[in-house]
Amino acid sequence: MRSKPHIAVIGAGAFGGWTALHLLERGARVTLLDSWGPGNSRASSGGETRIMRATYGPAQPYTELAARALKLWPKYERRWKRQFLHRTGVLWMVSSRDDSYDRGSLDLLWQNGIKFQELSAAQMKRRWPQINFSDVTWGILESECGYLDARASCQAVVEAFITAGGTYCQLAVLPQGLENAPLRALPLSDGARLAADFYIFACGPWLGQLFPQTLGERIRATKQDILFFGLPAGDSRFSDATLPVWGDHGQRFFYGIPGRDRRGFKIADDTRGPAFDPTSGERLVSQATVKRVREYLAFRFPAMKGAPLIEARICQYEQTPDSDFIVDRHPRMNNVWFLGGGSGHGFKHGPVLGEVMAELILNDGEPSPIWSLRRFTGR
Ligand SMILES: Cc1cc2nc3c(=O)[nH]c(=O)nc-3n(C[C@H](O)[C@H](O)[C@H](O)COP(=O)(O)OP(=O)(O)OC[C@H]3O[C@@H](n4cnc5c(N)ncnc54)[C@H](O)[C@@H]3O)c2cc1C
Repeated sequence: MRSKPHIAVIGAGAFGGWTALHLLERGARVTLLDSWGPGNSRASSGGETRIMRATYGPAQPYTELAARALKLWPKYERRWKRQFLHRTGVLWMVSSRDDSYDRGSLDLLWQNGIKFQELSAAQMKRRWPQINFSDVTWGILESECGYLDARASCQAVVEAFITAGGTYCQLAVLPQGLENAPLRALPLSDGARLAADFYIFACGPWLGQLFPQTLGERIRATKQDILFFGLPAGDSRFSDATLPVWGDHGQRFFYGIPGRDRRGFKIADDTRGPAFDPTSGERLVSQATVKRVREYLAFRFPAMKGAPLIEARICQYEQTPDSDFIVDRHPRMNNVWFLGGGSGHGFKHGPVLGEVMAELILNDGEPSPIWSLRRFTGR
């Protein structure tokens, strides 16, 4: 290999953007491509905010990844003199009888140096009287976590990449023939072809469509409705100055981000929605979701009962069968890599996955078995 490999990264979302930046910082020549731009409204990294948490249940790699992310986000914030991570804290309300996920998270939080408190229902009631904790038995407060600015940080990553000498082109890679080994050049939407030493496909929910034989249904795009409710006038009880980000493990998993920047109280149901086409899908929320979320809101945050829906967004999860990421080579092409399958929890890990990917490519490393394609095929 020449001393300075040329690497094409396709997709400038949270996964591809950070990967391109880390590769560039380690001396590679990098071309980053995106059909519609970083954090665009069709991308899984679009929209305002994402949760930064480290509670992930027992026996998984993501708490350790989140601990590293909690170091990398501030590092780049300092460098760029901008804030993306808002440390409101993340409160887990445990209202399910089976608390193995939350209870099983504690050891890993502790081992990875994540600051947290275990709280009784009585402690939570005293601290946040605006929440109805009637069926909640206990909770976890991750005090240094919170939420991240989504679209804004994706755009900042690409700006930094360009400033550092990377090449960014707003062009689409055409899907035709990508799986015909060997891949020598990418066919682009302007009719040109781009040749590189390595191709990293970080195309979020589009990955299955681009590689139907190898990935196909292993990355399913599911429709997720996100609702923003208006806060009572002059009332700061539901803003991010007062309330942490929260997750509620009951019969369903609801989560939310308190009102920020004079926007609404964000709330979503994490249940995987129907299949959704990220290119042509119309982004209209389902009335059934609005009804279900309203009922939940009235129960858990009684002063928000009847609050008007002031904004709504549709995003899509790029869901793998086991919710673990896909970080691996194409089985028949050593120069083609996949990075995706964020499965509704990938955003916070973007800077760490960028590091992981840069190490794998530049040091000819082997991907972790938990993220490899072999876990699906057994080979
Ligand atoms: C509603 C919702 C809530 C979420 N909540 C959280 C959360 O709280 N915390 C968290 O950590 N994560 C969360 N996630 C998950 C996280 O946002 C995603 O896992 C992550 O953003 C995925 O990033 P990505 O770069 O893989 O995909 P994307 O952001 O979709 O980026 C892929 C990019 O590839 C481009 N592209 C696609 N095809 C081509 C092509 N042929 N040629 C060129 N470019 C192409 C697209 O334009 C796009 O910009 C959530 C996701 C959703 C949808």
